[in-house]
Amino acid sequence: MNNENVVEILSKLISCKSITPEDDGCQEFIELYLKNLGFETETKKHGSVINLIARYGKESPVFAYAGHTDVVPTGDLDKWLTNPFELTEIDSKLYGRGTSDMKGSVACILISIREFLNLNKDFKGSIVVILTSDEEGPAQNGIKKLVNDGDLTKHNIDMCLIGEPSCKKILGDTIKNGRRGSLSGKIIVQGIQGHVAYPHNAMNPIHAFSSTLKDLVNKKYDKGNKYFPPTTFQISNLNSGVGATNIIPGQLSMDFNFRYSTETTCEELMSDITKIMDSSDLKYSINWHHSGDPYLTEKKELLDICVSATKEILDVTSNISTDGGTSDGRFIAKICDQVIEFGLINESIHKINEHTTENDLRNTVKVYSQILKNIFN
Ligand SMILES: [Zn+2]
Repeated sequence: MNNENVVEILSKLISCKSITPEDDGCQEFIELYLKNLGFETETKKHGSVINLIARYGKESPVFAYAGHTDVVPTGDLDKWLTNPFELTEIDSKLYGRGTSDMKGSVACILISIREFLNLNKDFKGSIVVILTSDEEGPAQNGIKKLVNDGDLTKHNIDMCLIGEPSCKKILGDTIKNGRRGSLSGKIIVQGIQGHVAYPHNAMNPIHAFSSTLKDLVNKKYDKGNKYFPPTTFQISNLNSGVGATNIIPGQLSMDFNFRYSTETTCEELMSDITKIMDSSDLKYSINWHHSGDPYLTEKKELLDICVSATKEILDVTSNISTDGGTSDGRFIAKICDQVIEFGLINESIHKINEHTTENDLRNTVKVYSQILKNIFN
């Protein structure tokens, strides 16, 4: 048992149609695999979301691998070169939904653990594996829930590596030591609808909002820091008017999003926006949606171990980055002060014809194995 190679494990995982929040047997397979290696496992179901927590060992240090088994939908099947739920090799590329994000990494995690335990049965420390089927969806019943319910607290995790696809062009080029926060809002400005020929009987919200809009866009929310670029403010939708050319609109709505650094907070940004809005005489309302705080791992140990592993195994000097969207790192960072992300190349993730290569999988196994070796040396 447990003698499959990394491609065989990936092939098994790809054959599960685990479109978020479904898991379709991925975690059952992984749970059995880890049990066979001597792990104790625990499953937490929340609605249609399934989460797996597995642990080997009782001592510290405690190192955790985290990730997800769900994938995004395939998109137009006719545009795929292959069946997205059947791992298929064409010209040395392995195609399938989830190959890079992130069943490939999950397969590498399993092999690295098996190889490590084969050589170090009695190492001092513990390995924890945390998987969810709710990362690509609303991300409410996955890692967030495990953290909030205290399911992970008892494991006293010292360090966590998330196997999200962090690399850009070549394997090893990027390690993430944090992510920006994300805050969205919708502003509605009230005007008074009327005839364009009688503006004194109306109040045009586009005209009224125009100078405030400029202030919102021109404001420097922060300068960023060593690890984070400056906070960005972007408007995604701006709507007003009913389509007719002789009507002054009665309302304007604007959607916007902040991707923010650790130099500011969600509360500060909300107050910045409110101050700018209040400095006008606009009648307005705002609705906020906060999808995640930023997180940052400055503490060096795990980051150093990962950087030296990519250098040694791949001969690549990794760039340390906090870019990209949000990840489950934002939740794990609340219970663990060293969280980093390292995994396969993210160029094809969420796209039609997502793929990876056997070479990258084998090299990722080597990097993960080296990390385990250095943590528990
Ligand atoms: Zn992912």
